[in-house]
Amino acid sequence: MQSFLPSKRTLMGPGPSDVSPRILKAMASPTLGHLDPEFQRMMEEIKGGLKGLFQTENRLTFPVSAPGSAGMETCFLNLVEEGDTVVVVRNGVFGDRMRENVVRAGGNAVLVDVPWGKAPDLKAIETALEAHPEAKILAFVHAETSTGVLADAAGICALAQAQDCLTIMDAVTSLGGVPVLVDEWGVDAVYSGSQKCLSCTPGLSPVSFSEKALDKVRARKTPVRSWFLDLSLVMNYWGGEGGRSYHHTAPVNALYGLHEALVMLFEEGLEETWARHGKMHKALAAGLEALGLNFLVDADVRLPMLNAVQVPEGIDEASVRAHLLAAHGLEIGAGLGPMAGKVWRIGLMGSSATENNINLCLTALADALNRHQYPCNSAEALAAAKAVLVG
Ligand SMILES: *Cc1c(COP(=O)(O)O)cnc(C)c1O
Repeated sequence: MQSFLPSKRTLMGPGPSDVSPRILKAMASPTLGHLDPEFQRMMEEIKGGLKGLFQTENRLTFPVSAPGSAGMETCFLNLVEEGDTVVVVRNGVFGDRMRENVVRAGGNAVLVDVPWGKAPDLKAIETALEAHPEAKILAFVHAETSTGVLADAAGICALAQAQDCLTIMDAVTSLGGVPVLVDEWGVDAVYSGSQKCLSCTPGLSPVSFSEKALDKVRARKTPVRSWFLDLSLVMNYWGGEGGRSYHHTAPVNALYGLHEALVMLFEEGLEETWARHGKMHKALAAGLEALGLNFLVDADVRLPMLNAVQVPEGIDEASVRAHLLAAHGLEIGAGLGPMAGKVWRIGLMGSSATENNINLCLTALADALNRHQYPCNSAEALAAAKAVLVG
């Protein structure tokens, strides 16, 4: 074998996003023992930083030692018990994964189906909750990465509270890119990921739980069906009060990276980060429209960090992406599920949401499209994006 030397890429897909050299450098620091007092102090700082990021006072806020999907399972396996009814809003791939999590936890999933590319309909959610007064939990995806749609989280949480339902929210793509206001909205369980708008390496999943959610976990009649993700056990390590004990070996260097990502985020400022994502999205959108491309999603519910654009008639979308990667070192995403072949998903997440990346993306995409018998002009696209950025 020989050492692996990855090529230089610009990551503008649905995640991972570009990881800043500062984070990579932090991760190259010497490994400490996972119970070293110095490391434990850093863990406390991570918990504090995540509370700020989630805008919550929740005591139980920490990163699960595994990717976003494990944060998802942590929420569902701990909160859903055999026979529980859970209303699941499904408007894309990740809503469907929520349904699957409910079923695997032994719950009954009641689906509120929304056409792909559309935002969840509050009226339909209210109707489903009224039709199922036995429902204990409402689950929804804040930022549906498969389609690029933002849900009205405040509105959905208010409906759940009116019916005495707990809420589980997927904030994997939204956290760090748009406001995620856990306490203000009253979200009871939320999970995210390190590799999207936090621009850290993949493999960690920040989660947070309200006291109401923990009451439900404490009242369980049966043990959680995962040893690794059982909150009552994980907390002996992450809880920290009264000293930590071994649960699993924390991914020490990965956590250095998350710590540095949080330092960088608060240096920029949360509101400034949200504003940057919004501004970069508007610039990219203007450029893409100048290339003649159309968005899948209506402007008022588009995600700034995930832009789903329609593949023009007759273009081989995979061949365009292959050219972007080979000739420009640029990665964008393909469509998932029913959107496969129909859309490209262009990410503007965290460190990837920059003017340079927008310019690269527009130039490279124009080049690829021109090679695929789709005439378009990169100079016009760059000018359209620039006009937004200086405006
Ligand atoms: C990426 C993503 C996930 C899964 O996260 P992984 O880190 O890939 O496990 C879950 N939900 C949404 C909305 C995502 O975008």
